Amino acid sequence: MSDYGEHEATDDPLQVLRHSTAHLLAAAVMELYPDAKYGIGPPVQDGFYYDLAFTKPISESDLGAIESRMRRIVNEDRPFVHETLTRDEAMAEFRKRGQDYKLELIADKVEGDEVSVYRTGDFLDLCRGPHVRSTRDLKAFKLMRVAGAYWRGDESKPQLTRIYGTAWQTPKELDDYLKFLEEAEKRDHKKLGKELKLFALDERLGLGQVVWLPDGTTIRRELERWIIDEELKRGYRHVITPHLAKLDLYKKSGHWQLFHDTMYPPMRFEDGEELELRPMNCPHHIVVYDQDMHSYRDLPLRIAELGQNYRLEKSGELMGMVRVRSFNLNDAHIFCTPDQVIAEVRGAIELANYFMSVLGVDDYWYRLSVRDNVKTKWAGTDEEWESAEAMLKEALDSLSLPYKVSPGDAAFYGPKIDFQVKDAHRREFTNNTVQVDYQLPKKFELEYVAEDGSRQRPVMIHRGAFGAFERMTAYLIEHYAGAFPTWLHPVQVIVIPITDAQLDYARTVADRLRSLRLRVEVDARSERMQRKIRDGQARKVPYMAIVGAREAEAEHVNVRDRSGDQVDSSLDSFASMVATEVAERRR
Ligand SMILES: [Zn+2]
Ligand SMILES: [Zn+2]
Repeated sequence: MSDYGEHEATDDPLQVLRHSTAHLLAAAVMELYPDAKYGIGPPVQDGFYYDLAFTKPISESDLGAIESRMRRIVNEDRPFVHETLTRDEAMAEFRKRGQDYKLELIADKVEGDEVSVYRTGDFLDLCRGPHVRSTRDLKAFKLMRVAGAYWRGDESKPQLTRIYGTAWQTPKELDDYLKFLEEAEKRDHKKLGKELKLFALDERLGLGQVVWLPDGTTIRRELERWIIDEELKRGYRHVITPHLAKLDLYKKSGHWQLFHDTMYPPMRFEDGEELELRPMNCPHHIVVYDQDMHSYRDLPLRIAELGQNYRLEKSGELMGMVRVRSFNLNDAHIFCTPDQVIAEVRGAIELANYFMSVLGVDDYWYRLSVRDNVKTKWAGTDEEWESAEAMLKEALDSLSLPYKVSPGDAAFYGPKIDFQVKDAHRREFTNNTVQVDYQLPKKFELEYVAEDGSRQRPVMIHRGAFGAFERMTAYLIEHYAGAFPTWLHPVQVIVIPITDAQLDYARTVADRLRSLRLRVEVDARSERMQRKIRDGQARKVPYMAIVGAREAEAEHVNVRDRSGDQVDSSLDSFASMVATEVAERRR
């Protein structure tokens, strides 16, 4: 499409429409700001942008006027006209218009003497198309925001103003999209995390450091207990290893050479020791494996840890709890014989699928990330790569799971299966991976004694099953909009006495529920009942148990759930109903 090689040409009608709307935006800007210079304007997910240089900076308050001008051009029904110019003609046209960025693109990107351009009225853009027939075909768009962007993404080049917009085939689709954004905004984990007092990001602790507040910690501990129990059931052994290790350990593993940009600078001591905050747990679990000489009878050895990791992400890339500088990973490393790899990979996939199904994560797909043909990037032999890839495929196939192959996305030491999850903002992220690794066991000379008495090298499987607590909790906040399933909610029941006369009974109810390990509060404030109910609703508490004189007399509770349904119940049956719901981790 436009801009010669900045993005791939496509005939997809929605992409064509969005790209055409980007031209429309630049055309409107040039009518309102004749001194502006235009850079590039590609389609992106849900819309488009155009990078422009203004002589005086513009702000979001200027977008309304630009959008009105765009609508005027739409009504003028201007055709998109394709022309092929010679290089000299094109240079002359853009020089006449003072469009330096286009001149630079022609010089850098156009090969040969033919230059493809599109005209919409007076507006001329360097572009391969295709485009819609006329501006009148652009019916449903909206300008969204402005941001700064370096020319061609290069920090040494001038900063331009990027105007983002969204464009759709019909006004109905545009409307639906804007409603979706509004809903996503309401669910935003940064906003809800603050309102519900789950976590904080406090500059006094440094950028990208999450503080788990008491209610957020309750959720996290509940998740941790569940994860550890499920892993123990499946034969994992949990360990606790230090957050620091000698820098040499990461040099030996190869992490330092590859990832030092995102590792914290080492701490150097007078005696020469250099310690490093760990970016991942793999070398630590190798040290655990290496405490004993293992026999084939010990394998597979599944070492698990809720491991704290430290990565120095760029400050501009930090975001809420999803992009942080310190996070805790549900990590494990399985050391096994080559014969055991497929079964172990299968087990790891099944555990991840189990976790996600209980949590209600349903929008995800499997990516088989393999190497590309840039040979120097990948450690190990062709044979190792081929066999690892074949085993991952076989594990996926044996579970009848569909997957897409993605060349170039492998880890440096081996191929992997990625669980690609979409969040409430429709942003995709890799939540878990299962990786087959021959390289680290080799680097650390790991061994086990085989059945015939010979020394053999184990295979190492790196696996996540739940993901990082920070990111997954952010996901859950947005997914449930704070209305967590009862088993995860920081407060499962609030008991509300109608008058002070029922305070004793309210406390009896709370004690009864607590004896079943439920999390209960008694709202003894001297507020009106309606106010207490509203406050409970704002906190999205699953159950409110309202007790008046009649309930106290009969040992009953008047139960109000989150949907507003109300039912009278004996205290016994209410208590066992909630306890069962929690024990079964119902959604
Ligand atoms: Zn174009
Ligand atoms: Zn690992």
